[in-house]
Amino acid sequence: MTGRAVRHALALALVLAGSIGCERLIDARIERNLTRAQTGLPDEPGLHVVLCGTGSPIADASRAAACTAVLAAGQFLLVDVGPGAWESADLANLPLARLSGVLLTHFHSDHIGDLGEAMTGSWIAGRTRPLDVYGPAGTAEVVRGFEAAYARDADARTRHHGEQAMPRAAAGAVAHEIALDADDPALPAVVVLERDGLRITAFAVDHSPVRPAVGYRFDYRGRSVVVTGDTKKSQGVASHALGADLLIHEALLPDAALRASAVAGRLGRGRLAKLASDIPGYHTSPVEAAQVAQAAGAKKLVLTHLVPGPNDFFARRLFLRGVGEVYGGEVVLGEDGMRFDLAPQP
Ligand SMILES: [Zn+2]
Ligand SMILES: [Zn+2]
Repeated sequence: MTGRAVRHALALALVLAGSIGCERLIDARIERNLTRAQTGLPDEPGLHVVLCGTGSPIADASRAAACTAVLAAGQFLLVDVGPGAWESADLANLPLARLSGVLLTHFHSDHIGDLGEAMTGSWIAGRTRPLDVYGPAGTAEVVRGFEAAYARDADARTRHHGEQAMPRAAAGAVAHEIALDADDPALPAVVVLERDGLRITAFAVDHSPVRPAVGYRFDYRGRSVVVTGDTKKSQGVASHALGADLLIHEALLPDAALRASAVAGRLGRGRLAKLASDIPGYHTSPVEAAQVAQAAGAKKLVLTHLVPGPNDFFARRLFLRGVGEVYGGEVVLGEDGMRFDLAPQP
């Protein structure tokens, strides 16, 4: 399969082919689809965030798994690319060809499942060099695995379309491992990348027994964004998010997970009951995330990786219950496609 835009364009052309007089309409629709990407967004002043996956491993038609896009200083980076995230990024009109890097927080499948799609899709869209993939120790192994899985696809595309259109050397990825192995959030942050005024640092989070696991902080022209990845409540996260304009924190409703465990047990689904009861121990509740935001003095809290997805009025009320009592700033329940723009400070 080629990219979504090309698929749409071809399907539309085939369905309507032969309808004499419709060509201009068809061409206009194809053109609209092929030009909808916000190609200049990474070059706009300031720091920009687009949520490209606010869900979890639980199937949800309106939410891809973990993905947060950060755009600044001519760069377009994705923090995590869980299943469905690449399509969500495309639907959010992000400039796929300009993807400059992926930052992995850890290697749970809901954070890495679409890495192959991001590698391949951005190459098809026009990326001209291998994709930089950053992450904790283990990233090189994960990248090698995805490269192996997608090698036949890349070979076939280059044979089919030619080296000039699909340069094979640009197809893969280059892993950059961050030297931050311990899971102690009290450790100092390490610089991942510093380019054209954009500074990205990584810090350890506590997602134990999963380790290593990291979060990322982006600083650019006086504005800052922190993406926690998966973590339990941590004072260390608060210190790394000190004064952030946006704290993008994971959130899970522990009561919902424990009730799911009880119901699964009643239905004789012992394995599921066990998994659901284990899960709250390495995630953060919405109220805890709000406490972290308050301790950090973060200006806005955006909740993501929402378990279960708060997709109706009742669930949204449950998610936000008690949050306003511990945090004075604005709280946003993330949805796929949401965009936040932080203008540079003078
Ligand atoms: Zn995880
Ligand atoms: Zn996760």
